[in-house]
Amino acid sequence: MHYFDHAATTPPYPEVIQTLTDIMSLYYGNPSALHRAGEDAAKLLKKAREVCAAALSALPSEIVFTSGATEGNNMAIKGAAMHYQSRGRHLITAVTEHPSVYQAFRQLEELGWEVTWMPVAGDGTVDPAALAEHVRKDTVLVSIMHVNNETGAVQPLEDIGRRIKEKNSRVLFHVDGVQGFGKLPVSLQNWQADLYTLSAHKFKGPKGAGIMYVKQGVQLYPLIAGGSQEGGYRGGTENVAAAAAVAKAMRLSAERQAEFYERARRLRDILVHHIADMPELMLNSSEHGAPHIIHFSYPGLKPEVLVHTLEEGGFLVSTKSACSSKSSEPSRTLIEMGRNADEAASGIRISLGWEHTEAEVRELGAALKSAVAQLAPMTGRKG
Ligand code: PMP
Repeated sequence: MHYFDHAATTPPYPEVIQTLTDIMSLYYGNPSALHRAGEDAAKLLKKAREVCAAALSALPSEIVFTSGATEGNNMAIKGAAMHYQSRGRHLITAVTEHPSVYQAFRQLEELGWEVTWMPVAGDGTVDPAALAEHVRKDTVLVSIMHVNNETGAVQPLEDIGRRIKEKNSRVLFHVDGVQGFGKLPVSLQNWQADLYTLSAHKFKGPKGAGIMYVKQGVQLYPLIAGGSQEGGYRGGTENVAAAAAVAKAMRLSAERQAEFYERARRLRDILVHHIADMPELMLNSSEHGAPHIIHFSYPGLKPEVLVHTLEEGGFLVSTKSACSSKSSEPSRTLIEMGRNADEAASGIRISLGWEHTEAEVRELGAALKSAVAQLAPMTGRKG
């Protein structure tokens, strides 16, 4: 089976699995306990926090372990909105954000916050100058993702960070970094990011684990009330094994990011070249986007049928993103990029990982062509 759905999730590094099993079997103490088993677990947690911080050139005290980016995004966005509401109740985000950001803002809107929803251009990017024009004295937070999970569009974060801070130096900048870490260079310092969220399973770490970076001096209203763990932001006994496994995956992925980028770009170019002559195929991911995500529409073809036909040939790809693939709605992201309903309802996402070879990518291209040739006559298309 050829797995081409790395934007949905990735197979963990063997070292990550080893770390999880070693720590779960040997160091099961509660890090808050005063005895030796507790101290050993607390040391591992401290070390994990240091490693995650180093991968982001951050301070260990700026790292909060979470259950992933859905939790992290909710904590960062709602936590900032609630803590800083005396400064104002205006927030800015983009229309193509992941549901864990989009819905968090929708809830805040229902609760009385004012949200400015930035549109995107045809390539899926936000215009930094237009965004900065919306920043006001009472704007508390701007949230823009690094890489779009459906199309791979890369947002101009450095430009956005600079412009919004020039307009209002107190405005906070949150970046959902899930699809970019380990794939593209990350610089929280250059982006002037105050809050940054990751899910470890997108970069070969464990599922149900991630981090939230909270810049020193920034405060959040804690959504999870309880003990004083994780700086008071997330009460509850820490998942030490997961934290250590997140740290392992972050270190390995950060070290190998430049190599991954080059590799994915070469494979992406081969695949795109291979399928470029397919009539009616519409590429939605741009060559300036993240190289590991290739997204296209084939209007008229039902994407689920294409996905199943490819699966019969041994290739696993995705319609839309994993979070919305079970809904029959056309993709919100593609509609916002100006695609029509037919184009937005016929999207296919191929996402690359470390495991792929040139030969495998060529085989996928050939399988795609033959699947479309087989299915297109049924719809009256040229194939
Ligand atoms: N943000 C983005 C951009 C994502 O792609 C995802 C995962 N699909 C998330 C947030 C949420 O991550 P998780 O499902 O691991 O909580």
